[in-house]
Amino acid sequence: MDYLETLLSDLVTASRILAHEGICDAFGHVSFRHPDNPKRFFQARAVAPELVTRDDIIEFDLDGAAVSDDRKPFLERFIHGTLYAARPDVHSVVHSHSRGVIPFGITDVPIRPLLHSCGVLGHDVPVWDAADTFGDTNLLIASNDMGRDFAETFGQGRAALMRGHGSTVVGRSIREAVYTAVYLDVNAQLQAAAMQLGPVKFLSDGEIDLIQSRLGDAKPGEGYDRTWQYWARRAGMADDAPVP
Ligand SMILES: [Zn+2]
Repeated sequence: MDYLETLLSDLVTASRILAHEGICDAFGHVSFRHPDNPKRFFQARAVAPELVTRDDIIEFDLDGAAVSDDRKPFLERFIHGTLYAARPDVHSVVHSHSRGVIPFGITDVPIRPLLHSCGVLGHDVPVWDAADTFGDTNLLIASNDMGRDFAETFGQGRAALMRGHGSTVVGRSIREAVYTAVYLDVNAQLQAAAMQLGPVKFLSDGEIDLIQSRLGDAKPGEGYDRTWQYWARRAGMADDAPVP
């Protein structure tokens, strides 16, 4: 299997993982940047992540226009294209409405990493509010203008919330983006629980930096690869192949 086919296969597995781990339900989507053409990305047609197959995947340019394909795309594909345009370091994007995160988008309590597994979230998880620039909307990112506005708020970090809507994470790989999406929700759930008990001791900036560098240096079978294999098996998508 060539590298692009491996990534296309991983996109199917990523969709199933995100559904199985409760990050996506009928909604939500994952994409990756074309490894040979940074101005293109791949994403499934508009279908629930649990149902995605290889044949559902469409190639897009960074404006969200499909390349020779007239099947129905996700309305919010603009989240992906505008982030790839703004962030050359990003190779995969996950957008979801995972429920644990929602309270932090509608209150003034920021999400901050509090568990070693969640250091990947980085120092700052901003909240984007569609109403700030666009007034009353249906809250979905349905245009490149909205996508660019969101990408500006997203900045150089790993994750951002959308008020009353959901969250988006990025990664240097599909595996990193999936990992970050899962642990963003884990962190949100634990933070909400811990705040019921009293003041929370969050990770320090130095701890976050050390965790991120360790994950970045992980060897095959460690870090993102270990979680990927575990989640893929749980989702019924056995993945025992060596890491490309
Ligand atoms: Zn959405």
